[in-house]
Amino acid sequence: MAVLLKRVLQSARPPAALGRPLGRREASLGTDPGAAVRVRFAPSPTGFLHIGGLRTALYNYIFAKKHQGRFILRLEDTDQTRLVPGAAENIEDMLEWAGIPPDESPRQGGPAGPYQQSQRLELYAQATEALLESGAAYPCFCSPQRLELLKKEALRNRQTPRYDNRCRTLSQGQVAQKLAKGPKPAIRFRLEGEAPAFQDLVYGWNRHEVASVEGDPVILKSDGFPTYHLACVVDDHHMGISHVLRGSEWLVSTSKHLLLYRALGWQPPRFAHLPLLLNKDGSKLSKRQGDIFLEHFAAADFLPDALLDIITNCGSGFAENQMGRTLPELIKQFDLTRVTCHSALLDLEKLLEFNRRAGGTMTLFHFENCFTLADVPDFVTYRCSSLSQGKPFWKCTQARITYVFMQLCKQVPLFSRLLEGPGVNLSQDVLNGELKKVSEGLEGTKHSNVMQVLRVALSGQRQGPPVAEMMVSLGAKEVRERIQKVLSS
Ligand code: GLU
Repeated sequence: MAVLLKRVLQSARPPAALGRPLGRREASLGTDPGAAVRVRFAPSPTGFLHIGGLRTALYNYIFAKKHQGRFILRLEDTDQTRLVPGAAENIEDMLEWAGIPPDESPRQGGPAGPYQQSQRLELYAQATEALLESGAAYPCFCSPQRLELLKKEALRNRQTPRYDNRCRTLSQGQVAQKLAKGPKPAIRFRLEGEAPAFQDLVYGWNRHEVASVEGDPVILKSDGFPTYHLACVVDDHHMGISHVLRGSEWLVSTSKHLLLYRALGWQPPRFAHLPLLLNKDGSKLSKRQGDIFLEHFAAADFLPDALLDIITNCGSGFAENQMGRTLPELIKQFDLTRVTCHSALLDLEKLLEFNRRAGGTMTLFHFENCFTLADVPDFVTYRCSSLSQGKPFWKCTQARITYVFMQLCKQVPLFSRLLEGPGVNLSQDVLNGELKKVSEGLEGTKHSNVMQVLRVALSGQRQGPPVAEMMVSLGAKEVRERIQKVLSS
């Protein structure tokens, strides 16, 4: 360790291969025109990108673009045990799909790369050595068993588990002895002194006296991988991050980060913690709800603009809520000082409306979701006797809706002929007559149900203008495309 320490202290800068610190000037919130704005979205690839992550990424993207800055994607993959295969690719794919691609990222590269923490271990080792050298960090030889015992004891006494800082006081001799003998130590950061207060750009003045509630945290594990706190500080510094816009769950960690900045002699960035995105009933967005993952929305043909629109309409950051804003409009209208501390409540039921507003058409996914169980007795004209209740019955219903729709689709050439035939001056009456004939051909299905299916397919709405009127005004091409889109989904 001492050799590495020396080497590290000799080179004040990280090796070129690991990027160079980008000069950072004190950047205040958009009021310092000379400051380079660099923000980052730093997910852990422990899961696919969901709508909560998209919101954090989007606010960062908007902030960067508003201030002619750079939007960076950094993958925090230091907990190798929790990596989910495909998650790293999915995160970058989905940012691209959403229309907010990073300027610098693992895929994109950039001057401050690599952009995956697992490839930046040298930088964390260097920072750790500097902290060891100044006495701000120390090696910890406590075994996992001892730490587990401490934890159990604290819980038994109804106390919050915390490390008792035992290895803080080891003498140099004891450390040398243990180093020669035993397994590699972890490195802990000495949480000492008053935590610095900081002015969060959303939550205002904050200070968390971490030292009085926490034991000294591990910053570098014995396997050479850093923990989140060290890696985040080191990377934000070396990547020249000017503003950290992240979820409010990290607000309490910021004092610890500031202590690390102070110990390393680095200027910290500005912080803006974003309030949580919650379900409309105030409950936590759960990743177990399959429908919060972006790939689900993409597969169901929702338009990315609709997602950006809905997540910027359920929180704050704008003078007013307004449906149908495009990304350039979002960038223009966004104002970080308007982000409040209130949680953002997301009502996904409104997404269809946002999607329509963004110019989206229906897919079978939307289409099926436009029907509720209440429609079933009316709609389904036969039932499989074995499928009577609950989900299987609903599945049967969906299958029936799909079946009816497939039958309808066979009529697409007929509709086209009717709508674009030579010299056609098609009246709605004629079209209605033809639609009636179509229904008659669909044995066991009421005409009203056929119209309902067509209305949903053509407009995404269960109620609206008469189907024939819609068909005439949409024209043959659009009718064909909308029907085919449903069919192919
Ligand atoms: N890796 C952390 C997360 O997934 C990032 C926290 C931060 O932005 O500092 O939430």
